[in-house]
Amino acid sequence: MKKVLVLEDEANIRSFVVINLRRSGYEPIEADCGEMALEQLRRHPDIRVALLDVMLPDIDGFEVCRRIRASNAKIGIIMLTAKSQEMDKVTGLMTGADDYVTKPFSPAELTARIDALYRRMGGDVEMEDTGEIRQGPFRLNTRNRTLEKNGERVRLTQIEYSIMKYFMDNPGKALSREDILNEVWGRDYFGELKIVDVNIRRLRIKIEDDPTMPTYITTVWGFGYKWGF
Ligand code: CA
Repeated sequence: MKKVLVLEDEANIRSFVVINLRRSGYEPIEADCGEMALEQLRRHPDIRVALLDVMLPDIDGFEVCRRIRASNAKIGIIMLTAKSQEMDKVTGLMTGADDYVTKPFSPAELTARIDALYRRMGGDVEMEDTGEIRQGPFRLNTRNRTLEKNGERVRLTQIEYSIMKYFMDNPGKALSREDILNEVWGRDYFGELKIVDVNIRRLRIKIEDDPTMPTYITTVWGFGYKWGF
């Protein structure tokens, strides 16, 4: 199991993160203060990634980061910062964090960052081997080019598969219809942008809980679409 330390003192945010990490195949190890985080790391030396909240009741997240880095260069560290702590991003990266996620964040965004960190550290052999992208209830198998939702196969055309792959590679990011067209159909394709909309409509029928109220593929008015949760 891929262990991830979750240091967050706010219980509701922590459980939100924990639930979503479990869904994505990680084993979360929880801590509600800095001292406990350091203790958990001693207890679980196989933790590969740590999520550190900045504002904590005892020592702040940057100090925790500094102390972890003092003895462990290999672990991946992602700081959880509030929007108002814009400067903290810089401080966090200076103290040895690898990445930061701004609150409020979507589960898809967070797991994508953790996945990316795992890959960058070369530690994610399991994921590379199986060729899988897991986000929320979805599991995309990039080897067989198949999609599952809650363990059930969703039958996709090759184009629909390519759109899903593009979305899942870019969670939480607004993608223009032109971007999607270029990525999926290729730059020399001479079709209309409408083809993107048509395929998205069909994809929604297949993957959304309620296609009339899409929650996974949302419309960014006058621009394109966004994948998220
Ligand atoms: Ca906090």
